[in-house]
Amino acid sequence: MRVILLGPPGSGKGTQACLIEEKFRLPRISTGDILREAVRRETPLGRRAEDMMKRGLLVSDDIVVGLVEEAVQREEHRHGYVLDGFPRTVAQAESLLRIDGRRPERVLDIQVGAEDLVDRLSRRHVCPGCRAVFGPASPPGAEEGRCAACGGALEIRADDKPEVIRERLRVFEAQTAPLREYYRSRSVYRTVPGTGRPEEVFGRIVGQLEAFLSGATEERRS
Ligand code: ADP
Ligand code: ZN
Repeated sequence: MRVILLGPPGSGKGTQACLIEEKFRLPRISTGDILREAVRRETPLGRRAEDMMKRGLLVSDDIVVGLVEEAVQREEHRHGYVLDGFPRTVAQAESLLRIDGRRPERVLDIQVGAEDLVDRLSRRHVCPGCRAVFGPASPPGAEEGRCAACGGALEIRADDKPEVIRERLRVFEAQTAPLREYYRSRSVYRTVPGTGRPEEVFGRIVGQLEAFLSGATEERRS
């Protein structure tokens, strides 16, 4: 099964992608994580991507499509994957078809209102070691400022500054939101309310994916 998570910055794509990976044994491909890793390691590609990421703009298609092509063609992704952060434009969606040859079976659009997004993004902390995401305070039991999963020092993402957050949301509306129509017309698009605790959102996603897997519903609803 090929699953795409569509949804604005801060909608919880990364968190849900990890949960899907675990439960459905679908390896996760996150372009944001791959790009951040390239920036951290100061690879030539990372150096090319860094400036656009800092400004909240999309990294050029030739860079991102190349990364995804390399990932999708790996043996471990032959039976499916969950894509987090790709495609982000209709052109990228077309590239994915060319790369993979098969349509994604489900595109899940995690829906969260704009004010909630700004609030979540401006308060979150991330662990660069294991990529866990936390709210404003360390979770109970964790040492202050330390990752509850691996103990790494928590950071604020470079693009989680208020002015960059606004830019990312603007870019989403302008460049990524058109994918909703694109996938709706291809009958793979489903919405998932993104409010509530991560486990609640995940419950809705499980419902959608299990319905697909059991071949049950050819619902027109989307
Ligand atoms: P978020 O969804 O919270 O904005 P991501 O981690 O998915 O965060 O992406 C962070 C940044 O990486 C984006 O703002 C963009 O600069 C770059 N990026 C990630 N995926 C893509 C993509 N598919 N196309 C272009 N740029 C991308
Ligand atoms: Zn960690």
